[in-house]
Amino acid sequence: MKLVFASNNKNKIQEIKHQLPADIELLSLEDIGCHEDIPETADTIEGNAILKANYVTKNYGYNCFADDTGLEVDALNGAPGVYSARYAGEQKDANDNMDKLLTELDGKTGRNANFKTVIALNLDGQQHLFTGIVIGTITTEKHGTSGFGYDPVFKPKDLDVTFAQISLSEKALLSHRGRAVAQLIEFLKS
Ligand code: IMP
Repeated sequence: MKLVFASNNKNKIQEIKHQLPADIELLSLEDIGCHEDIPETADTIEGNAILKANYVTKNYGYNCFADDTGLEVDALNGAPGVYSARYAGEQKDANDNMDKLLTELDGKTGRNANFKTVIALNLDGQQHLFTGIVIGTITTEKHGTSGFGYDPVFKPKDLDVTFAQISLSEKALLSHRGRAVAQLIEFLKS
């Protein structure tokens, strides 16, 4: 079976390709000739995952899955959430985003937060959603250099270091995306 991952992120595609059952051929957007920017105009993380998966299935006719992720901070009523990538502006710069987050939280007590990934899968006319969550806190300064995005300011519960201070394989085991992908793989195997 051919299955499209509505992404051109080579790291994500490689990571998932290795975990899929052998009878599934994973295709990227590039592989199916989809070069347009898929709209991500929903106001929820779930909504954007669904928009992306539906766009591919409707316009290209493939079974498809898409993911969307956001960082939700309690003291900011769930912001930056669905707007995580462009929190500090359209330049989508990770440092600018973290600086804005630390400034917004300056002097506030509730620094609890969670990362949430939703995967929407369109398979043979049915839609399935898989959600992976990791809870933690926002640190007061950036720590570490690995990973990407908000990793240097996110300390998962039960660890004394940020996501940017652990290896990618350690992060994959406990991260929001790792958890959502594990559910998707289990479902596709069953
Ligand atoms: P996307 O939906 O995977 O593109 O993620 C949206 C935004 O959330 C990214 O641009 C990052 O700012 C942030 N983000 C997603 N996943 C992670 C992560 O694992 N660590 C840190 N930030 C992340």
